[in-house]
Amino acid sequence: MSVRWGLIGASTIARQFMIDAIRAQGDGEVAAVMSSSPERAQAYARENGIPASVSTLDALLAADIDAVYISTTNELHLEQGLAAIKAGKHVLCEKPLALTSADARSMVAAAKKAGIVFGTNHHLRNAGAHRAMRDAIAAGRIGKPIAARVFHSVYLPENLQGWRIARPEAGGGVVLDITVHDADTLRFVLGDDPIEISAFTQSAGMAGGGLEDGAMCIWRFKSGVIAQSHEGFMTKFAGTGFEVHGSEGSLIATNVMTQKPVGSVLLRTANGEEELSFDREDLYTRSLRQFHAAIRGEGQPSATGEDGIWSLASAEAALQSSKTGKAVTIDPQLGSLA
Ligand code: NDP
Repeated sequence: MSVRWGLIGASTIARQFMIDAIRAQGDGEVAAVMSSSPERAQAYARENGIPASVSTLDALLAADIDAVYISTTNELHLEQGLAAIKAGKHVLCEKPLALTSADARSMVAAAKKAGIVFGTNHHLRNAGAHRAMRDAIAAGRIGKPIAARVFHSVYLPENLQGWRIARPEAGGGVVLDITVHDADTLRFVLGDDPIEISAFTQSAGMAGGGLEDGAMCIWRFKSGVIAQSHEGFMTKFAGTGFEVHGSEGSLIATNVMTQKPVGSVLLRTANGEEELSFDREDLYTRSLRQFHAAIRGEGQPSATGEDGIWSLASAEAALQSSKTGKAVTIDPQLGSLA
């Protein structure tokens, strides 16, 4: 039986990655798209070969679909997610799940109560590079992890220089855009949860409306590991990376904080240097495969709703820290709905 998807949002991310990822599943179909504008819905459907287009959420949820992918601007995720859950549809929601972790929590709790599958579209934990790092750490290849560094300051492409840098009410800003991904990737690779964050943010010239376009965060994890991360929209030439340094070795990954299955991971120990091999499957295709499996009752989405609560709570803590100038603690129970 195929999984029929409804797209909530005529977005760039769906066009660039998610429609293909759904269609790459043997049992995936993009059945309908919803845009707030009927013209945009029709044009988007035509350009992307989607059979139906609608301009209201009710019409989409009344269509013959099994699951929705929500990729509207961030302030809309909560209301759309709750409506989809109420209609009994499985939900794959973009990050951040909502504008506050309390709202994200209520949505994830509603999904759990309704017994539907709910996932957060954190793509990076689907990257072969990050899975290779996680496996190497779990296998003890760097000994005891001590510290991590994340380099995730990029240049926001011109076609995306809209709500992200102009509309605080839509959940703009680099922290809700990129720090959430770093939170999730740090948690995934380290197999650990953050308990405290301190952050500086800046508005270096791209973002308006009081929004930040750069952030540097310092993280403390439950195990005692400390980390630093840099997120930005304005650095054209920085490159990305992810490092974890342990008592017996270091993992140094380059060009891995991206949407593509690229980059390299180097393991450096007393024995010398070794390039780790990893699979190069498209990140979003892998995410969709796990989501479809979860619908069949096999396992969970690669990033769950709880993972989405964690990443948003971390971003929230970073924003609060940047305003107060103080480190902010994260409630360790926050991500758990047990
Ligand atoms: P876009 O700006 O492309 O789309 C967001 C919304 O903007 C759409 O739903 C659409 O509204 C509206 N919109 C799009 N084009 C136009 C236009 N020409 N005129 C007027 N309105 C328009 O956003 P992204 O695709 O970059 O991001 C969407 C979501 O996905 C966000 O939550 C973001 O955080 C997340 N994201 C996640 C990524 C990941 O890798 N996990 C990567 C990129 C984004 P309507 O639907 O009503 O037409």
